[in-house]
Amino acid sequence: MSVFTSIKGVTDCTNKFLLARDTIGGREVIEVTKRCNNKHACPCCMPYLYSQLAKRFEPLLDCWVLTGGSIYTQTLTLPNRPKSLIFKHDDIAKTWQKMGKSKGFGKLRTQYGVTQYLRVTEDVLRVKKSFPHFHLTWFFDRELTHFDMEAFCSAIAELWSVSAVKEGIRGTQAARQWCGPILVSNKSYSRYIFKHGYFNINFDPLAEMNLGRGLKPLDFLRAIDATGDLALIEVWLEYEHATSGRHRVQPSRNFLWSRASSANE
Ligand SMILES: [Zn+2]
Repeated sequence: MSVFTSIKGVTDCTNKFLLARDTIGGREVIEVTKRCNNKHACPCCMPYLYSQLAKRFEPLLDCWVLTGGSIYTQTLTLPNRPKSLIFKHDDIAKTWQKMGKSKGFGKLRTQYGVTQYLRVTEDVLRVKKSFPHFHLTWFFDRELTHFDMEAFCSAIAELWSVSAVKEGIRGTQAARQWCGPILVSNKSYSRYIFKHGYFNINFDPLAEMNLGRGLKPLDFLRAIDATGDLALIEVWLEYEHATSGRHRVQPSRNFLWSRASSANE
């Protein structure tokens, strides 16, 4: 699948090469495997990197709540207008930046005790109307009711809309910003939040309806591999361009992966 990518590093990821090194006994030749570590587009690196993140995230969720904190989740989107993915990624990044720098954002975090958050970018890819969005996991330093956390998320959604409008993005008020608690279990949520790194074994890359609904990047790449469809390849190249140099998984500053360590410091 790497052959459908155009990013240098991804195309030759997992290539092996030989390296000679000096040892006490003389010279030794060792085989080294190259890894590109690209979290947007590498079918070789993403499953490993995302599984490592999920493994760290799950115990954090457990210990955060056990030590008296609360967690809520939110999805932030923009209206899906007929623009190229490159502009859509630009819009969502600019809106985030505007919101992050606003006084209102800092105030809300202080008011509700949001000491940290994790932002994960997701892309839904299809021939027409692909779109990126953000998944936020908010970490509150105290025990809060659903009502309080929902109020925080509503205020964030409002601030998000205002920030988008300030960036000249139209129709933002109509876009729905979803929020809610972690359902089922921390384990399933960790997998859900890092799902872009996994291959779905039930996924049929040749099924038409899958493509209509929109696909995660690696599933999209599998559909390209199975069909060789030029229209899909064009979307993929646009996606590569749009995500180049961007963060896929962005923890807030001084993010703690274990809450117990914050108490010890
Ligand atoms: Zn790679």
